[in-house]
Amino acid sequence: MAQVINNTAKKLAKEYSSRIFEEKFKYDGDDLGVTFTKEKTVFKVWSPLATKISVNLYKNGDAETECYQTYVLEKGKNGVWSVEINEDLENIYYTYTVKALDNERETGDIYARACGVNSQRSMIVNLKDTNPQDWEKDSFSYDKNLQPIIYELHIKDFSYDKNSGISDKNRGKYLAFTETGTCYNNDKDKPTGIDYLKKLGITHVHILPMYDFGSIDEDGSDTQFNWGYDPVNYNVPEGSYASDAHDGRVRVKEVKQMIQALHSAGIGVIMDVVYNHTYNTDSFFQCTVPYYYYRVDENGNFSNGSACGNETASERFMFRKYMIDSVMYWAKEYHIDGFRFDLMGLHDTATMNTIRETLNTLPNGENILMYGEPWFASTPAMDKGAIPATKENLRYLDTNIAIFSDDTRDTIKGSVFFEKDGGFVNGKPFLTDKVRSAVCAWCDNSGVDAYYPRQIISYVSAHDNYSLYDKLVLSMTHTQDFKNINKTLIDTNKFIATIIMTCCGTTFFQAGEEFARTKDGIGDSYNSAPEINMLNWERAYQNKDLVDFYANLIAFRKTVPALMKKNIKVSKHIEFVDTEIQSMVHFIVKSNDSKDVFVVYNASENQAIVNLPEGDWQIICDGKEVFTDNTQVFNNEVVIEKKCGVIFRKHN
Ligand code: CA
Repeated sequence: MAQVINNTAKKLAKEYSSRIFEEKFKYDGDDLGVTFTKEKTVFKVWSPLATKISVNLYKNGDAETECYQTYVLEKGKNGVWSVEINEDLENIYYTYTVKALDNERETGDIYARACGVNSQRSMIVNLKDTNPQDWEKDSFSYDKNLQPIIYELHIKDFSYDKNSGISDKNRGKYLAFTETGTCYNNDKDKPTGIDYLKKLGITHVHILPMYDFGSIDEDGSDTQFNWGYDPVNYNVPEGSYASDAHDGRVRVKEVKQMIQALHSAGIGVIMDVVYNHTYNTDSFFQCTVPYYYYRVDENGNFSNGSACGNETASERFMFRKYMIDSVMYWAKEYHIDGFRFDLMGLHDTATMNTIRETLNTLPNGENILMYGEPWFASTPAMDKGAIPATKENLRYLDTNIAIFSDDTRDTIKGSVFFEKDGGFVNGKPFLTDKVRSAVCAWCDNSGVDAYYPRQIISYVSAHDNYSLYDKLVLSMTHTQDFKNINKTLIDTNKFIATIIMTCCGTTFFQAGEEFARTKDGIGDSYNSAPEINMLNWERAYQNKDLVDFYANLIAFRKTVPALMKKNIKVSKHIEFVDTEIQSMVHFIVKSNDSKDVFVVYNASENQAIVNLPEGDWQIICDGKEVFTDNTQVFNNEVVIEKKCGVIFRKHN
């Protein structure tokens, strides 16, 4: 097949990446999009390529309403077009018609802060009016020296289950987070929803995409489901989670209510951001400045490092600025406490570091978390000289940006790419060195250039790939019996949890890992039915023993400064004990301001006899249970059961 060559895109790409273009068209202003007051609204669009731009006004955001007024924008310096309209345009919807490359396209505003149903029309809102009561008092404080314990959650998953006890009108929506006192089976001892999160003890929720995405019909049924990695409006919340997707103000207010409720519960909110690609290439970006925001290959075709059809160009100054502005907007307007960057390896390190520096300028800005996936689906067509923010390039990233550790994930329980593959907990040989590195959050000169534990996300499960329980079913049994609760697998799950909670680094787990969540063996459940994806509260209480195990481990972890502090020198706090036994790792966690902890992982097929360090040691976890009260004290030799993790703490 002959290669299709797009000469226009080839030529433009060269021009866009040139210094001359940057010098001529770089725009630093903070007023792109609309600037609204009751008296006037100013519209500004950056588009050096355009030959004509007009703004079309609409009384509502639904596609069938006709435009009632059009104004032509004037071209100014740096490729910025603008028009000032001396009217009160509050709650008016708008689009731009951009003529470029002899082509005229109607498009939404890439800088829109609100929009009508299904994204297509942008909206002028008075943001102050979208603030819930007491929004100005909303705050979340978390010790800046401490690691978070992050729970990865999807809005619809959280409350879709009828057994959640959450009201029908809020199930699957932002407002589900505002309901307290909800429980399973009307049993007050079985909290669901936000009360459950509080009891579990996690410090932050990481919310899967909640910016506006394109895969769900916002006018359609609530039975639709998608993870939402298909962004349309980066600065607008998704409409399908709002009680009304037609009035653009509602989603803005309801996201704020959700965040306020989480903050009131003492839980921080991290947003999953997907700047690396757009839903499709027929996007507002492409209509506004053709080919500027995307990378193209040597033939001028859209490069596809995301495996989603395209990849954006963070190294170009106006997209870099776009990402910075967008992150700052969410942090300021929505009080977001952290950002998780999808396929961060498609972004360049300079952009990531600049976002970090810019967030740092906010009050408590250094506390705003940044972390991402340090990989890509295929090699990006990044401009020469730009450095991809991958694991291999960690040394170029600010140390206050963390990366997901696929090494930790796959070492402990087996590769995500081979379902039958097991890991250290399954007795796979020759992994003890890697487990030791995982314990040290790879701050041990072991191939990953981490310096501080805060740079590493220690985890075994996330939305991608099998849930932990499903992975255990596939790798440890010959069945496909995901629904059944298998005691051996639950014990293995406990072993894994013990490892993750005693590793340095930033603790992270997928919602439901703590109750043996199953997705019926579906790994890539991005558009599976909500019933497959949702948190199943019946299962949560079937496995209450496992949930308690997690909650108690979390509570324990919080009492061990050496595991919780972001910037410790790991070699001063983790001391491994040599052992002859294969599949065994044990170590002392030393803290100046707390009692030492002694941890043993025994992945071998046999009981092991281990010498405790000098002194008396109280048992915290015996592999089956995490004890919270005064517990038995041991010294000298102890027997460690096979296939489990055991924790002791120094006794007086
Ligand atoms: Ca949408």
